[in-house]
Amino acid sequence: DYFQLQGKVALVTGASSGLGVHFAKVLAAEGATVVLAARRKEKLDANVKALEESGAKAMAVSLDVTSPDSVDSAFAAIKAQVGPVDILVNNAGVASDPLSFVDTQEDDWNWVVDTNLTGAWRVARGATLQMKEAGNGGVIINIASIYGLRTGVMKVAYNASKAAVVQMTKSMAMELNRLGIRVNALCPGWFRTEINSDYFASESGQRYVSRIPAKRLGEYEDLTVPLLLLASDASSYMNGTTLAVDGGIM
Ligand code: NDP
Repeated sequence: DYFQLQGKVALVTGASSGLGVHFAKVLAAEGATVVLAARRKEKLDANVKALEESGAKAMAVSLDVTSPDSVDSAFAAIKAQVGPVDILVNNAGVASDPLSFVDTQEDDWNWVVDTNLTGAWRVARGATLQMKEAGNGGVIINIASIYGLRTGVMKVAYNASKAAVVQMTKSMAMELNRLGIRVNALCPGWFRTEINSDYFASESGQRYVSRIPAKRLGEYEDLTVPLLLLASDASSYMNGTTLAVDGGIM
């Protein structure tokens, strides 16, 4: 088994809904103890219960990535309950409704950048400190986006935040290599989740789907093997890379 993760502690942020729930399930199925983190604790508890019922080892931890105190307490709780993090899936993120460049206000900009970029940095730093202290190396997967690589209109803050996550990934990889910590970015294309379900129901959303070379939205299952590849020793010779899973969008 290329992907086995027995004995590893994997933290997935943004695991209350959407892609993060799938990522937690996939890592748990390979034997990792998964920590599901986000702000909506009831949702996390329900997701943990479902995982435990399928025989997985899982815990929930409240986390607001925009709060330094919340991030510190989450890492302390994880260490106390299941030990230091070996794998981080840095997935928590937000997108505002489509907004033109000039209509984007301070609050819109700050919300997106504070969550997607500064929040991702803060959590990655917390995980790195824990990995460094434990001395067993580690794996960090930053969930960026196709919009970190290409662009689209009406989402300037989102595009900028995700492009920055791609660059942050490369910087981290260069520095953390000497600690045995590998850092890669996973860039999903368009997957149907809470963040965008209204959009895909609309006419312009439908038009967008018709322009994807694969002629369909991504399904969660399309991310299973890419995630496991980056999370496991199967990718031990990959560091600082960006893996796009996007149906072939150019
Ligand atoms: P969802 O809205 O379903 O999930 C977002 C997750 O992030 C939720 O669990 C939410 O939990 C969490 N979150 C948001 N803000 C915070 C915060 N301040 N602190 C902690 N957790 C937070 O969207 P997706 O599953 O689609 O998005 C997951 C990631 O994938 C994002 O980074 C997104 O940009 C990226 N992505 C998604 C694509 C798609 O097509 N869906 C395409 C490309 C990238 P809670 O509200 O409980 O805190």
